[in-house]
Amino acid sequence: MPADVTRDLIKLGRCLLLCLLLTPWLSAAEPTWRVGVARVNITPDEPLWMAGYASRTHEAVGTFCELWVRACALEDPDGERNVLVSLDLVGMDRTLSQLICQAVSAQTGLRRSQLALCFSHTHSGPVVGRNLEPLHYRQLDAAQQGRIDRYADRLRQQVVDAVRQALDQLQPAELWWGTGRATFAANRRQNAESDITRLREMGQVQGPSDHDVPVLAARNPDGTWRAVWFGYACHATVLDDYSWCGDYPGYAAQELESNQANCVALFWAGCGADQNPLPRRRLELAQQYGAQLAQGVAQVLAVPAGLQPVRGGLRSGYAELPLPLDRVPTADQVRQAAESADRYERARAALQLEQLATGQALPATYPYPIQVWRLGDQVQFIFLGGEVVVDYALTLKSALRGRATWVAGYANDVMAYIPSRRVLAEGGYEGGGAMVYYGLPGPWSPDVERLIVDAVVGLERSLEDQHAVDGGEAVDGGAGVDPHVGQGVRLP
Ligand SMILES: [Zn+2]
Repeated sequence: MPADVTRDLIKLGRCLLLCLLLTPWLSAAEPTWRVGVARVNITPDEPLWMAGYASRTHEAVGTFCELWVRACALEDPDGERNVLVSLDLVGMDRTLSQLICQAVSAQTGLRRSQLALCFSHTHSGPVVGRNLEPLHYRQLDAAQQGRIDRYADRLRQQVVDAVRQALDQLQPAELWWGTGRATFAANRRQNAESDITRLREMGQVQGPSDHDVPVLAARNPDGTWRAVWFGYACHATVLDDYSWCGDYPGYAAQELESNQANCVALFWAGCGADQNPLPRRRLELAQQYGAQLAQGVAQVLAVPAGLQPVRGGLRSGYAELPLPLDRVPTADQVRQAAESADRYERARAALQLEQLATGQALPATYPYPIQVWRLGDQVQFIFLGGEVVVDYALTLKSALRGRATWVAGYANDVMAYIPSRRVLAEGGYEGGGAMVYYGLPGPWSPDVERLIVDAVVGLERSLEDQHAVDGGEAVDGGAGVDPHVGQGVRLP
């Protein structure tokens, strides 16, 4: 599509979006919730290596759009609170995530289950701490690594600040939920990038996708919107440039916020590990997909039948599941890998040798984070760590009926790809090839899909027990629920 036509479409979409967002259709209702929001700019203020692609050869040189951490606090009628944090970043390693959650807990009293960190997985953000370490191991000089470490330190405080500000600004609001749609995500394992336009025209796009756009919206007593949460299952990989950018999720959030003063729009990535925005690689496409996603949200907000009220209270559970690897290399095999012709195999082996030298064995399992929130009696919101393929969302939506089921990937700790049994058996990048870039020592066990789905279902059901035991007051407790920050309960 020519660039001027694309620009006209984006402009037309903006006009539609503004009209939709300003449509005051909802009848007045007594707000029973309190909602607070905050945004903190996390665009690096010095040159920094960019995350997501191994092929980059130098640090960022410009900015297409600012990067943000956005926080939204919910408080139910009984005073129970949850805070969603949305970050324009590729992901985060477990250590940094734990440090942030512990700092938030110490300063706000939130339990681990009440805080969810969601990463947009933009590939136009900075390297974050030790995330994807083999990609950069021994490739950066001391000054470059020092800037990465300083950024991680500053980010920790910025996230804490955003959460505190959101909690400080709790105000009465109504909560509404609905589901929109956007169709630019395509299964990247089953559709060649060069063929996608033709396949779409012929209605022959292959493979599973999830085109739902779940929406949660907080409405002020004066009818304006204070906060919008929206999800989509697709890699944020339109761009591979050297400029900071939130990619399509960043443009979608910017679009929603620019059309409604003081509204904060929080994106969460769904199970889009095997989905790409196609076609891609042009700035106007990132803007166009952002506009499409924002319109998908705005259409839900504008139609009376599109939104349902959220009634009831909050409940939350968090657990860490010891997720098994299929096999772990011996020390001899690691030493062999350290001589590999592949730079990333060598980097992973070097990191493993450092670990072995301290007397620690290579782990046979990974403490995999799962989290479930109930938003009133209407929505169950599941947060899974890692790059989760779309099969998980489709399976969990069908396994957990009776409420709207939303499934976020890229939540709390992005430690690896999380293939389904099908994708694991098929192999390829998402099925095991990508493990080297995250530094985990082997492929996942074929049981991981069953273990994760069973653990999520068990955790969700434990929220029911929580209600029975605690008389409706949401606390961390019950089977499989981790009551402490950073300490996992071992699920069966
Ligand atoms: Zn990815």
